[in-house]
Amino acid sequence: MHKLYLLLIWFPVSLFAQSTYLLKPDRVFDGETVHEDWVVRIKGDKIDAAGSVSSVSANGAEIIDLKGTTLMPGLIEGHSHLLLHPYNETPWDDQVLKEARSLRVARATVHAQKTLMAGFTTVRDLGTEGADYDDVGLKQAIDQGIIPGPRMIIVTRALIASGSYGPKGFSADIDVPQGAEEADGQDALIKAVRRQIGKGADAIKIYADYRWGLMAEARPTYTIDEIKLIVDVAASSGRAVVAHASTAEGMRRAILGGCKTVEHGDAGTPEVFALMKQHGTALCPTLAAGDAVSQYRGWKKGTDPEPERIKQKRITFKQALEAGVTICAGGDVGVFSHGDNARELVMMVNYGMKPIDVLRSATSINADTFQLKDRGRIKPGLLADLVAVEGDPGKTIANLQRVRAVLKGGIFYKR
Ligand SMILES: [Zn+2]
Repeated sequence: MHKLYLLLIWFPVSLFAQSTYLLKPDRVFDGETVHEDWVVRIKGDKIDAAGSVSSVSANGAEIIDLKGTTLMPGLIEGHSHLLLHPYNETPWDDQVLKEARSLRVARATVHAQKTLMAGFTTVRDLGTEGADYDDVGLKQAIDQGIIPGPRMIIVTRALIASGSYGPKGFSADIDVPQGAEEADGQDALIKAVRRQIGKGADAIKIYADYRWGLMAEARPTYTIDEIKLIVDVAASSGRAVVAHASTAEGMRRAILGGCKTVEHGDAGTPEVFALMKQHGTALCPTLAAGDAVSQYRGWKKGTDPEPERIKQKRITFKQALEAGVTICAGGDVGVFSHGDNARELVMMVNYGMKPIDVLRSATSINADTFQLKDRGRIKPGLLADLVAVEGDPGKTIANLQRVRAVLKGGIFYKR
């Protein structure tokens, strides 16, 4: 009885949801290279075929004219916080301490929609920043079609060494709720990693360094042994570990400990970047976050000279490129506005990357680095997550900010 019931319900749904489209843009970026005069055929939620006009059948397909555009795999945001909003609206401390989680989640649903409409069909969301496990429900709401949004890779609360994170600056006599989960040492770390996975974490995030105590400077937090333990425990469930690290020593420990990506990497050195290359650790540079924070602190971009922090970031980012480090695309969006994700990609070109390499980072390279085998390229059998942007972003990267169409799972969200 039950089986028959399910069949009756599910069979028609899957049958009638199968739309077939033939998309005709000016050109296709397939995640690796650009092809002029290609078309892409979509069937249901998958890519059915891609190639020259003469090689792909139009039979039975609705033809979608995308003249004047480049069709690409849906962009992958490598570093977002859907539960945060720009710090010039509300400082991070106040978001964590004064905003109700219901308010934060309500806002996050809008962030999710803006992200998708900007052509980002997947986000790696790197921490709820004090909103506990609220990314789990947000991801479920998107996956169940309750709200529009990108596919999410989530890390839930993230892990911090005791005493190292924020909000900080309060009396030493009181304990202030923190923006991530404190855990240290053998047993507590094993438990915390396993608990976060159990609650829904797709990856584990650690803070390998942070501005600590009364000193304003960032210092390494976890020992190499602690990081190795976290990586080991996460790996047994097939999950990767990502490390926030801005100091050279924090980065070195994250690399040697086996973390898959290093976030920020501001004070990396040629030696550290060589080590990243050697271990296959990817760098997610978050250029747009540092740029935004400098402006929130008073820098008038375009008028004032670049602050020391920005000059240094340009230097270390170049060193990473010269060392041949795999570069992820991720802006730390949330620090700046959701939906403005492409700002990072424009800045990557401004800081020295070729536009075509930036397009690869935001699609196939992010997919490979985050172990997403079903997306990031335009190839038969992969998910029909696609974005069409005006003109040729391989020549003018800012065209990524001119989105004309967005498909996720073969469904048009923008057309
Ligand atoms: Zn972040």
